[in-house]
Amino acid sequence: MRRKHNRTDSLSVLSQIDQFIVKPTSKALERREPHMYPTSASFIDSTGKINGKCLRQAVFSYYGIPETNPPDAQAQYTFALGNAIEGLVGDWLKQMGLFVAHHVKFYRPDCNLSGEIDFVIYPYRKADTLIGLECKSFYGNYTKSSCVTGTKTTTAQPKIEHIMQVAMYLDNISMLEEFRLIYIGRDTFDRQEYTIYLQENGESAYPVVVGPGAITTEYKEMTMDRIYSRYQQAMDHIRANKLPAVDYKPEMSLVEATQAASEMPGGKSKLEKFKDGEILTLDWQCRYCNHRSLCRGLSRDVIEKFPVRYAAGEFKPKQYDASMADRNKP
Ligand code: SF4
Repeated sequence: MRRKHNRTDSLSVLSQIDQFIVKPTSKALERREPHMYPTSASFIDSTGKINGKCLRQAVFSYYGIPETNPPDAQAQYTFALGNAIEGLVGDWLKQMGLFVAHHVKFYRPDCNLSGEIDFVIYPYRKADTLIGLECKSFYGNYTKSSCVTGTKTTTAQPKIEHIMQVAMYLDNISMLEEFRLIYIGRDTFDRQEYTIYLQENGESAYPVVVGPGAITTEYKEMTMDRIYSRYQQAMDHIRANKLPAVDYKPEMSLVEATQAASEMPGGKSKLEKFKDGEILTLDWQCRYCNHRSLCRGLSRDVIEKFPVRYAAGEFKPKQYDASMADRNKP
């Protein structure tokens, strides 16, 4: 006899999962020992252009300031799949006899920099040397054409954030003279591998990337000194209880919005919404910044005293608010 079916249609399993994965976990809210991380790396090149992470964003993360625009459920799936792919790679390396260690940590006191590399491996069976391995997963045509396949007119290269990350691993773990950086597509499983090493240059060093077809690119502007000086600048601000100025533009002016709207598809209605209060962002770094609503709302006097006021509980950044996040969507 069939059992009576009690409908539970108000309880969507998927939406419960979404809520679970976007909810700040106790781990995320735990006060970590404050450090800088390799993912916050940046440098200023000889033209004055900032490459990489915004210093202000790095300082927000250092203080563990709650994110006003945390990753949504879709992004959490992305992170989890990236971790799963890294786990698979680790399992296969073990089965192949190449695995030596994973999650190897280092610390650099002058920048208060704490890092962790994905894997230390033998590059082939019975090799007598060790190398590092950094595993990145991706999806979509943009990363595929820029980091994996290249295009008719451009050769594939790793993202500069990833090169900086690996360069710091090489510089701080002296037993590793070479790193492999691999990209694995989560959609079509396109793959690419790069070899990265550091080239000494006087007092400092810069990364050299060897890609498909042995195409070798020297990143002479990306010196280790320039990267570390940005971390030291961030630490100087922290010691002085100041927030750094913005490195990117979190909000457009009317003139900029009008110009941008004239160049983008559907720009006219975007401009109308901008005039109605919707925020348009110029730089992609701000579009993906997890503190963008907080950053936009800070006035100059708050920036000067922000860490002190935050620590005193005087200034409370808003917690995640779905309606606010929607309004400020990139
Ligand atoms: S919103 Fe932009 S400028 Fe502000 S902290 Fe984030 S990345 Fe930096």
